[in-house]
Amino acid sequence: MADVVVIGAGAVGCAAALHLKEAAPNLDVVVVEPDYSYARAATGKGTGGVRQLFTRPENIWLSQYTLDAIDDWQTWASVDGAPAPELNWRANGYMFVVGEQDLDSLQANFETQRTNGVPAEWLDSSDLAERYPELVTSDLVAGVLSTRDGWLNPKVFFSVLKAKSEAAGATFVTDRVLDLTHDGTIVRSVSLASGGVITADAVINTAGVHAPELAAKVGMQIPVEPMRRHEHYIETSADVDHLPFVKDVHGLAVHAYRQGISVGLVDFDHPGGEDFTIDPTDYPDRVRPALLERFSGLGELTLRDSWTGLYDQNRFDGNMIIGNWPGHADNFYVACGFSGHGFMHALGVGRGLTELVLHGSYQTFDLSAMGYQRILDGHFYGEEGVR
Ligand SMILES: Cc1cc2nc3c(=O)[nH]c(=O)nc-3n(C[C@H](O)[C@H](O)[C@H](O)COP(=O)(O)OP(=O)(O)OC[C@H]3O[C@@H](n4cnc5c(N)ncnc54)[C@H](O)[C@@H]3O)c2cc1C
Repeated sequence: MADVVVIGAGAVGCAAALHLKEAAPNLDVVVVEPDYSYARAATGKGTGGVRQLFTRPENIWLSQYTLDAIDDWQTWASVDGAPAPELNWRANGYMFVVGEQDLDSLQANFETQRTNGVPAEWLDSSDLAERYPELVTSDLVAGVLSTRDGWLNPKVFFSVLKAKSEAAGATFVTDRVLDLTHDGTIVRSVSLASGGVITADAVINTAGVHAPELAAKVGMQIPVEPMRRHEHYIETSADVDHLPFVKDVHGLAVHAYRQGISVGLVDFDHPGGEDFTIDPTDYPDRVRPALLERFSGLGELTLRDSWTGLYDQNRFDGNMIIGNWPGHADNFYVACGFSGHGFMHALGVGRGLTELVLHGSYQTFDLSAMGYQRILDGHFYGEEGVR
């Protein structure tokens, strides 16, 4: 018996457990996770980027909530009086760069960002060339730099998040949820691979790429599937430490890392599925040429490491799906479809889920536009331009 069962102890599940216990310390919160090594979870594979450069205000607010925790890191990350571990927060900013055809969406997004308190700076192509001489700007017309943003060591951030939720009193069990029982519009219990059953007043589904199959058990059709994403670590002979995290419309994402850079080129067309294979052609045939088209003077590039992880890609509009399905699954709350933004949004999503469970509505950020209803209505609520 639990008050709330959380399915999946990745970043989002841990954030939900933390906020539930902080808001209601007497609540019995049980988190079910089959693999605490996180070998297949997205949380262990992320690059740790935190940005406010979004189209939708909800995504901006969620990033700002995480940035507040980062600003307060020494206090926020001190668990049971232990000193906060080193986060390796690199506040170099995030920069989106575009050519002529994406100028309008960059401009519209810039206005949304400024309205929502983002210290974003507009750079035309001559500003870009002057400030970042290694950037190839011949096809660029503008960029937007968000100076408060940056990147961190996601493993460190996550270890603190999990430790905080444990210290707050959430119970973590090792098991896998196989099924849900429900009558009418209420989910009554979850059945586990071990044979156990946990009854609960509310169930939160934060199972990452497995969230859709659990949601389907209450009739929710979630258009989210696993999508392979490569990341490569390349040593460079050039000094790139001053660069912001740079993204362009083709999905190229570059930031300084160790003795060089970490780079990925998201392949949104890669077929869905739990595919972790490392394609040996990804770096030489796709990523390196794209990198050299965007940057010059990087010096000698030596590939040192490549890895893959899974995006829980929302194939409908590329944004998260959060909340219950009123009148059909009233006490069953989903949060998935983060499409590469989930780490930076986990904290705020955990808070939003907590508000839904405890109050039945959002109390701080209104995330209703990111709910399941938009999927049923076919209402696109995605990012425009650079995603
Ligand atoms: C290469 C790469 C780079 C990325 N870079 C960034 C970035 O820079 N910034 C950013 O914000 N995000 C980034 N992301 C995305 C981010 O990592 C994810 O959005 C985020 O970690 C999702 O967290 P989650 O808790 O929803 O899912 P997960 O971390 O996948 O956790 C889900 C958990 O549910 C468990 N589970 C599954 N099925 C069940 C079940 N039946 N019962 C119980 N438990 C179950 C799984 O074992 C897993 O541990 C990146 C992702 C990748 C792959």
